[in-house]
Amino acid sequence: MHLGGVRTALYAYLFAKQQGGQFILRIEDTDQVRLVPGATEVIYDTLREMGLNWDEGPDVGGPVGPYIQSQRRDTYLPYAKQLVQSGHAYYCFCTKEELDERRAACEARGETFKYDKHCLHLSPEEVQRRLDAGEPWVIRMNAPTEGESSYHDIVFGDMTFQNAEALDDMVLIKQDGMPTYNFANVIDDHLMGITHVMRGTEYLSSTPRYNFLYRALGWEIPQYIHLPPVMRDEHHKLSKRDGDAYYSDFIDKGYLKDALVNYLALVGWNPGNDREFFTLPELVEAFDVSRITKSPGIFDVKKLTWFNAEYIRRMSPEDYLAAVTPWFDKTLEGVKIDYVRLAQLMQDRTEIFSQVPDMVRFLKDMPDYDLELYTHKKMKTNPEISLQALDMLRPVLEGIPEADWLEQTIHDRLMAAIAERGMKNGQALWPLRIAISGLQSTPGGAVEIAYLLGKTRTLARLDQAAERLRSALA
Ligand code: ZN
Repeated sequence: MHLGGVRTALYAYLFAKQQGGQFILRIEDTDQVRLVPGATEVIYDTLREMGLNWDEGPDVGGPVGPYIQSQRRDTYLPYAKQLVQSGHAYYCFCTKEELDERRAACEARGETFKYDKHCLHLSPEEVQRRLDAGEPWVIRMNAPTEGESSYHDIVFGDMTFQNAEALDDMVLIKQDGMPTYNFANVIDDHLMGITHVMRGTEYLSSTPRYNFLYRALGWEIPQYIHLPPVMRDEHHKLSKRDGDAYYSDFIDKGYLKDALVNYLALVGWNPGNDREFFTLPELVEAFDVSRITKSPGIFDVKKLTWFNAEYIRRMSPEDYLAAVTPWFDKTLEGVKIDYVRLAQLMQDRTEIFSQVPDMVRFLKDMPDYDLELYTHKKMKTNPEISLQALDMLRPVLEGIPEADWLEQTIHDRLMAAIAERGMKNGQALWPLRIAISGLQSTPGGAVEIAYLLGKTRTLARLDQAAERLRSALA
């Protein structure tokens, strides 16, 4: 699901729940050509994962079902016929070839093609004759060509459009008997008792078409809440190619759905104060349609990442461990590592889970590193001092029995040896950490890393590091 659609669903849910209304899921699949296999499942899964549980819908049922438009196909034609009766619609027998020809002629004159009401002028007898003869037909809306249409939008205020520009004789029923998206939408919104329509601003200018149909059928027009788009910045849309357009893009990168829901709510809406953190029920409480912005909502990945890091910090250690384990497995699968301890060390350092595999990879594979890392002014170390420290610490570590290879023991033994030699802690522990991690920055220090690696691998890495320093210094 595109983030724009996800946010529309979120706002619709928040508004419905806050007003004590029902949140209804309806699948609009009348355009069979554009159907994408599996797309419906993605909608179900995404909304459920976000916690946007629908009160009525395809799988849960409800009083105004079925909730899948292709299962309602017999619903629409009687309304279209009613509109033909009242003069608001008419049968059209123009073939695709005829339409193409007229379109081409129109474009050659530099005009944009609009259906020219050709078939509106057929006599009732001729229409009947051609229907009886089994000629293919569609039903078109008989749109006014003069005057203007106005309506009120809750976000954008009073909107007025010239009928000649906003309306055309759009098809209501297609040749295959299926309603068009536009027509089915109006019929179902009415039959399902939809009171508020929330959708993107691209529909602002097509709303007069819907209103024409509501009026022609004698139905009450719903309240409109058009939402500004979700953009990457003022000039750029979210793009599929850059991998930042879909809900699943962010879940796959290891963003938490709660952080994503929280942040998305704030893209195009604000609570009117400084508050930033909201659970879904808190959003229901705080949401106010009058605070939806008219300007595009900017989806700032940096800000989302900040939210995500905050959410991770607030997780219980157990929840964090469960969430991070699959990411540990990506690089550490098969390596004997205390995940519980590693998770403790990683939780505050995690902004998004996809960064985790690279951050813990050193526990499996010793990275290449520059001997320059042993030079550290503040720690007062250099390669010579480092080599001395490693040589001094090796027997200390070797003397710890395998069964006692615990952080407390490692710590106490190392500190005692360092004190005995009169070294500064940094002069010994800095080189040790470089020697066994190869990294300038790690989750935990030398003691924690030695513990995580285990005795054998710690000593092997230490030996290799000392060897490298010895030959470099020789
Ligand atoms: Zn026609």
